[in-house]
Amino acid sequence: MIRLLDKSVSDKIAAGEVIERPISIVKELVENALDAGADSVVVEIKNGGKSYIRVTDNGCGIPSEEAETAFLRHATSKISTAADLDAIDTLGFRGEALASIAAVTRTEVITKTKGSKTGTRLILHGGRVITKEKTGCPDGTTIIVTDLFYNTPARLKFMKTDSAESGLIIDFMSQMALAYKDVKFRLINNGRILFSTQGDGNRLNTILRVYHDVDSRNMVPVCHSEDGISVDGYISTPAFSKTTRGSQIYFVNGRVVSSKVIEKGVSEGYRERLFEGRYPVVYLFLHVDPHTIDVNIHPNKREVRFNEESMITDFIARAIRDALSSEDAVVDAGNIFKGRENSISSSKVYERVFEPLREKTEEKQVDIKQILSTIENPYKAETESESESESEIAIYAPKFKPFDFSQLKVTGVIFDTYITAVDESNFYLIDQHAAQERIFYEKLVGEYESAEKVRQPLLVPLVINVSLSVSENSFDWLDALSRMGFTVNEFGPGTFRITEIPMFMELSEAEDFINQFIENINERTNLSNSVVIDKLIMMSCKAAVKANDKLSDGEVKALINDLSSCINPFSCPHGRPTFIRLTRYEIEKMFKRV
Ligand code: ADP
Ligand code: MG
Repeated sequence: MIRLLDKSVSDKIAAGEVIERPISIVKELVENALDAGADSVVVEIKNGGKSYIRVTDNGCGIPSEEAETAFLRHATSKISTAADLDAIDTLGFRGEALASIAAVTRTEVITKTKGSKTGTRLILHGGRVITKEKTGCPDGTTIIVTDLFYNTPARLKFMKTDSAESGLIIDFMSQMALAYKDVKFRLINNGRILFSTQGDGNRLNTILRVYHDVDSRNMVPVCHSEDGISVDGYISTPAFSKTTRGSQIYFVNGRVVSSKVIEKGVSEGYRERLFEGRYPVVYLFLHVDPHTIDVNIHPNKREVRFNEESMITDFIARAIRDALSSEDAVVDAGNIFKGRENSISSSKVYERVFEPLREKTEEKQVDIKQILSTIENPYKAETESESESESEIAIYAPKFKPFDFSQLKVTGVIFDTYITAVDESNFYLIDQHAAQERIFYEKLVGEYESAEKVRQPLLVPLVINVSLSVSENSFDWLDALSRMGFTVNEFGPGTFRITEIPMFMELSEAEDFINQFIENINERTNLSNSVVIDKLIMMSCKAAVKANDKLSDGEVKALINDLSSCINPFSCPHGRPTFIRLTRYEIEKMFKRV
């Protein structure tokens, strides 16, 4: 028997098409807020949006008498005739978002138009109006959605984990904030503000507020136009790169898209400037004649097709090359290298995501600024995001293909400082001091972590004096030093005696290291936090490792060998590169052979 479905059933089915998961709700509500002319939008979610989504805007509000209507299917203020369909410039216009959201959740709306004295509060459960009342509230609209799919439990099993769902929302919100740089966006996840933009129209500022892992000093503006097409945005200098394409975001006419054609243009533009397996950070806003593209608006992934693909690829590549060869792309050699905080993965330290490094380049003269190494920065800033409970010291392991040291042929040493080496298609300069620091650091950390300490006894013990406040908490740092392979005992008030040092250290190194280590400790140093210890070790290595003037051939060989067994051989613990690479192509370019 053929039957018409009950309205509540058909509503739920229709809703399921529009509302697949929390991100669908956030997207519709944020788009409505922007359509309502808001220049401030706050989004708050809990449990990946499954249990709670709030979107607050300062837009035009919904008049009290229209509040229920807004929740009816095909209710929209945005079109009234079929002709309007062609002239749409709003984000949502199907008039089914609110109806669909309300059908599968408990929804509360608090809204007020500018002209009216009081606002309206409307509560719906599964699309049915439960409460409607007057309320005092600011101009604009707040919609709170709770208990997603409470009445369609079958849908719940399609939900991913909280963090997967919130990830989608965070990505979406980040992109919206970038695209609408004149709108203030704030995103709150489980009570914590993830970002908050100023809506001041400043693109770079917005990027930095949203993407905390971007190094502002290594971003250069892109601004390029050729008959009818234009692109603007920011891209990273080759000194700052990532191991995935995850930090590449493209907008075409204001919408985020994924596009192999643009990706290809970006790769072309950076050709020969990045090591294999490294990806630049790219935020590009492309503006083209809408008639020259076909946008297939799939809910999660927007594919865009360009009529003239290779023209777009070439255009993007030119824009990138232009930007990279501009003054802005020249890294100021006087800058201090500094890493950025990492997000800490839950498992082993070795799986930690690398942060890229601000790279040392020479002054701008020739093309040497393009001598790019893609070196990782293990330097770790202490930030609140770092978990206190990390039980191991951080060494960062590269995720990309390991560098093949066996191909490296040392050709000499220049200025008693830089080892020169080649492999099949590259020339390298290796900073011997930076390399020593890296080796020293990793050996110490290795020592700290290993159960067996390899110590060497001293014939004459070292004696050090420390301030009373430091000797007060000697319990902690004695333990830390002992874990690194030092044997230290209290000798009198503020005086300590070192009788054993780690095997690989020279006496002077051990002395400098300990002095530096203790000097860096103050009352606020939490020595039970391995991240803090890690940082202390890093700082102390610097003082300990002497610029070893002249290395013999054997010492150079040993150094390279030691370096090759480092987890991260490409930079010193402070983020300065150990390697600088010049490709054969770069060299040939400088000689104008290519
Ligand atoms: P559409 O956006 O396609 O018109 P929706 O179901 O998303 O359909 O919204 C229905 C109507 O409710 C909108 O046309 C608009 O008039 C009103 N509305 C929704 N959200 C807001 C908001 N945040 N501020 C003001 N009006 C809103
Ligand atoms: Mg809408």
